[in-house]
Amino acid sequence: MLVDSHAHIDARLYHKDRDEVVARARKAGVAAVVNVGCDLGSSEASVKLAQRYGEVFAAIGFHPHNAAKMMHGDLDKLAELSQHPEVVAIGEIGLDFYRNLSPREAQIEAFKEQLELAERLSLPVIIHCRNAQEEVLSILTEWAGRAKRDRPLGVLHCFSGDAKLGHRYIEMGFLISIAGPVTYPSSHALEIARDIPLEELVIETDCPFLTPHPRRGKRNEPSYLSLIAEKIGEIRGVPPDLVAESTAKNAIRLFELPIQLKGAL
Ligand SMILES: [Zn+2]
Repeated sequence: MLVDSHAHIDARLYHKDRDEVVARARKAGVAAVVNVGCDLGSSEASVKLAQRYGEVFAAIGFHPHNAAKMMHGDLDKLAELSQHPEVVAIGEIGLDFYRNLSPREAQIEAFKEQLELAERLSLPVIIHCRNAQEEVLSILTEWAGRAKRDRPLGVLHCFSGDAKLGHRYIEMGFLISIAGPVTYPSSHALEIARDIPLEELVIETDCPFLTPHPRRGKRNEPSYLSLIAEKIGEIRGVPPDLVAESTAKNAIRLFELPIQLKGAL
């Protein structure tokens, strides 16, 4: 059993065969997929998908790329949307100083506002961070110091820091997520896959992006998630089933998914 903690199957690339994509995921043992919003439209689409497919759950939020498009009143709309029982997280939110598709000031403001929203709603956060490690760490350190929860505060999606930074986030109450790049040669994620305890890891496809080897070059989809579990198992010298079950258990705890693990852990 696997849980895909981060997917975008609302993307246009799945318009023609979304039912088949979900059916293939089910067949491949993916018990749950968290579909992640990037703006208001994709957040609403995430909720609709979650209502349509039993194994899909929704995260809602404004990606840093779209921070400048976040309008006055959009936070209220997200809060309203969060009332649907299928909504399990606020995300993806954070900073992207690599592509800078929104001005940095707008990104920081949207990030902080959505962290406050998550705290108000007692929802975990899904963090996107690219070329902004210091800034994200300082904002999350400040926020985590105030956030009170009896479960993980959120997840660093497709984590791009080193193991030392990963351990700092774990101490603050976050989980670390590994995506397809762990299957690429000389990926920084190899260190993360080796050094971060299994109890603190979740896995994701981030589909349609970051397709794992040997499917690289094709459209990604949740049924490929087992390739990531297999690679982590190989790196750690443990059975891939153990990686699948542990990361699924962690994702269930993080998002409070109303599903049961098959078999005892
Ligand atoms: Zn994403």
